[in-house]
Amino acid sequence: MNLQGLPPAFQTQMQAQLGADYSDFETALDQPAPVSIRVNPRKNIFPTVDLLPIPWCSEGFYLPERPSFTLDPLFQAGAYYVQEASSMLLNEALKQTVKLNRPLRVLDLCAAPGGKSTLLASALSPDSLLICNEVIRSRVSVLRENMDKWGYPNVVISNHDPEDMRSLEGFFDVVVVDAPCSGEGLFRKDPDAMNEWSEANVQLCSARQKRILGAAAPLLDEGGILIYSTCTYNDSENTENVRFLTEHGFRNRSLELPADWNIVEKKTGETVGYQCYPHRVKGEGFFISVFQKTAFTAAVKLDARTFRSIRALRPRETASAMKWLQNPSEFSFWEKPNGDVMALPKSLEKTFLFLDSALHNKGFGLEMGQFKGQDFIPSHALALSTAVSSNLPAVALSKEDALRFFKKENLVFDEPLKGWLLAQYNGLNLGWLKGVGNRVNNYLPKDWRIRMDIKEYV
Ligand code: SAM
Repeated sequence: MNLQGLPPAFQTQMQAQLGADYSDFETALDQPAPVSIRVNPRKNIFPTVDLLPIPWCSEGFYLPERPSFTLDPLFQAGAYYVQEASSMLLNEALKQTVKLNRPLRVLDLCAAPGGKSTLLASALSPDSLLICNEVIRSRVSVLRENMDKWGYPNVVISNHDPEDMRSLEGFFDVVVVDAPCSGEGLFRKDPDAMNEWSEANVQLCSARQKRILGAAAPLLDEGGILIYSTCTYNDSENTENVRFLTEHGFRNRSLELPADWNIVEKKTGETVGYQCYPHRVKGEGFFISVFQKTAFTAAVKLDARTFRSIRALRPRETASAMKWLQNPSEFSFWEKPNGDVMALPKSLEKTFLFLDSALHNKGFGLEMGQFKGQDFIPSHALALSTAVSSNLPAVALSKEDALRFFKKENLVFDEPLKGWLLAQYNGLNLGWLKGVGNRVNNYLPKDWRIRMDIKEYV
């Protein structure tokens, strides 16, 4: 990166924070950022044997170089997520402070584009509920796309300001606040973060984070865990907010991190947070601190008996919808006013009923597709879901054809193919094809089409 571009006030701040280590920090900023991925344990086919593991996340690995992820069908199919290594420390924080093998209600309050959400989805038991919330509407579609690719049916996507979630007070066992921040830890990866940095912006971020934490605090049940993280080094953000939480009904939880991980323990009085620096770990700047709620918040009671806008599918339609799922008896089947068919995990049905009244801008359950006359048009999300049946007709594609599929080209096969088929690559579902007459139509949604030239890769 261009070290000349480092804001002088940032340099002074980091010199004060790091002392003699400052020159190592600057040297690290001048190196390329490491590339890392986290594999999807329910689509576990990415070859990792030769990869260097990330010590704090068993599903995380460093790649020797940056490939074109867009042109990897396994990436498009949700076999892995490209995530900066330090931020996977969330995995260790969860493991040490949350009993993950029981059903939990979890909120990722600042979720887009979905890095922490995909990590949470993998870490939770299948009968847990994960709400991925993003306040900025334009960022919800990328969040939805990433969660669809990941393919877990116990996920709700919502679009609310944290302060508008009061009807969920006392509801959650875990809330993750991966707060919008000054992004000092991303300067090497993202020059925009550096160009936008100013002391005034740091103060703005700090105040915004306090507002978010103030809104997050009542959403937790007593004993619940709040995980606060940022990708900055700034004490006005990290340390001050950590103090804010201990003054508002939370006690800090410390983590046991092996010394050879080189993660710095940052103490403020009795409170501790953990800071990754690029000269000490193979990753970017990241801060994380864990809290347990000691205060009591009465849970909101909503007496909803029926869903507001969805209706149960009729028996004949239900029988037809069930054929598309691997374990259909674990789901109930519903239809939205626009005709979209949804499968809701039965273990979460009561929770969804409550959420239906409590949250307005949300989507939940597995969107399966739509009935059209005698046909059922399956959705792309269904193809990518871990709940889809493994007994449906499928066609194995070469890498070249898989990329053509993602270019939304119509594919040509030697033999005529009929009806709905799952397009697969290395056994992983990519989406739907439909054979009609001599043609095979490609049902990749327009918005998912890759625009890059694939010629040199096929
Ligand atoms: N957790 C995400 C991940 O791991 O992929 C990254 C989250 S990013 C650091 C912070 C998110 O907070 C952004 O998506 C941003 O749109 C959102 N945000 C911005 N202002 C917010 C606010 N006032 N309240 C809640 N979220 C906000």
